[in-house]
Amino acid sequence: MTQVAIIGGGIGGLTLALELHVAGIDCKVFEAVERLGTVGVGINVLPHATRTLSRLGLRDELASVAVTTREHVFYNRFGQHIYSEPAGRYAGYEWPQFSVHRGDLQEVLRRAVRARLGEHAVVTGHRCVSFEESNGAVTVRFALPDGGRTSHRADGVVGCDGVHSAVRRQLHPDEGDPVYSGVNMWRGVTVWPPLLTGASMVRAGWLTTGKLVAYPIRDRVDDRGRQLLNWVFEIETPRHADRDWNRAGRIEDFLPAIADWRFDWLDAPEMITAADLVLEYPMVDQDPLPWWGAGRVTLLGDAAHPMVPRGSNGAGQAILDATALATALRTHTDVATAFAVYERERRPATAAVVHANRANPPDAILREVYERTRDRPFRRIEDVITVAELEDITNGYKRTAGYSLDALRNSATEKD
Ligand SMILES: Cc1cc2nc3c(=O)[nH]c(=O)nc-3n(C[C@H](O)[C@H](O)[C@H](O)COP(=O)(O)OP(=O)(O)OC[C@H]3O[C@@H](n4cnc5c(N)ncnc54)[C@H](O)[C@@H]3O)c2cc1C
Repeated sequence: MTQVAIIGGGIGGLTLALELHVAGIDCKVFEAVERLGTVGVGINVLPHATRTLSRLGLRDELASVAVTTREHVFYNRFGQHIYSEPAGRYAGYEWPQFSVHRGDLQEVLRRAVRARLGEHAVVTGHRCVSFEESNGAVTVRFALPDGGRTSHRADGVVGCDGVHSAVRRQLHPDEGDPVYSGVNMWRGVTVWPPLLTGASMVRAGWLTTGKLVAYPIRDRVDDRGRQLLNWVFEIETPRHADRDWNRAGRIEDFLPAIADWRFDWLDAPEMITAADLVLEYPMVDQDPLPWWGAGRVTLLGDAAHPMVPRGSNGAGQAILDATALATALRTHTDVATAFAVYERERRPATAAVVHANRANPPDAILREVYERTRDRPFRRIEDVITVAELEDITNGYKRTAGYSLDALRNSATEKD
């Protein structure tokens, strides 16, 4: 029976384990860190991905830890409303959009993997350092926390080891450095009263002078009914630190840019100053690869297609990869053939999302208004941009990323 070694127990790796289990394919997850904790801050899972997670039987559990997003709302930096559109089920999809703490999502997936595949399906403290294909199988070598080494032999290996992927590095040793987008990000969480509907995903301002994204990721975190509000402040700057998901950030470095953002719907300086946690991360991605894998080794999620986080699609595309890979392995008994079929489907699809996130993600709405108003308050938004133009921007992105309402309604490829 085929056995697949999954390198990395993040969102993509754990979803792949669940999908392979459904397909009746044996697998084991090897994760570098010793203890999977509640790392990271907020993440959004859009309907194309919650469809998969719902089919895997995780919808109710996710709904209990996440916030079911109601709407996307756009403002300029003067607090003027530009556009609102409903999200997930509120927009007519059969599946919700979840705004969730990344650690909570990872924990729901990890628990499901352990319950369905067994306690030993996820092995922690195994950092992949290299692999070698020989005689119809692949040997993966791991470094252990005590300095020791070990190895595992499998029929196929999937590098789900994120933006610093060791598997990708071995497959593509001559690849250039990550591309810095020119935008630095500070991310944080603040315990805060419900903002707007209490399930609104807000985007405000524009990258040149500063853009804020804010949405709740945990409901009722205290007896005053407050929520855990996730926020990201992004601003164009030549300066940036290395990409490290856990790097601490300093509020003083960006607070001046947002000092006068005191609106009736949000006092941004007060909300940011009250943060429990601030992290700094440069907005980087990598040019799409001309090929992902070779033979019995392939890539999935951020390891395959790191993208700038401007379209809420990092987790979603990793989840879609997992479904496509499990389908290919179920259909083709030869592992190398299955991996090639998977790559043919997912590489162009995800390259399109990488490019769309650079040029025309949903926040292109903010860019349009910023440019057309020359960064000044407007009298009536209708004089600046029409609803049809605004819808064109968001619908175009949905089509590229694979979650337009029509595409999800019409696709009969997946049993829901
Ligand atoms: C610590 C951390 C915090 C994050 N925080 C956020 C956030 O706040 N917001 C957001 O939008 N996205 C965040 N992300 C990224 C987000 O999870 C991904 O963009 C997306 O979910 C795609 O998932 P993935 O499985 O491809 O990668 P990831 O979810 O990043 O998972 C990769 C996994 O591989 C493991 N790994 C790395 N190298 C090795 C190795 N050599 N051997 C074995 N295992 C390895 C990592 O520890 C990790 O568990 C974070 C990622 C990490 C690792």
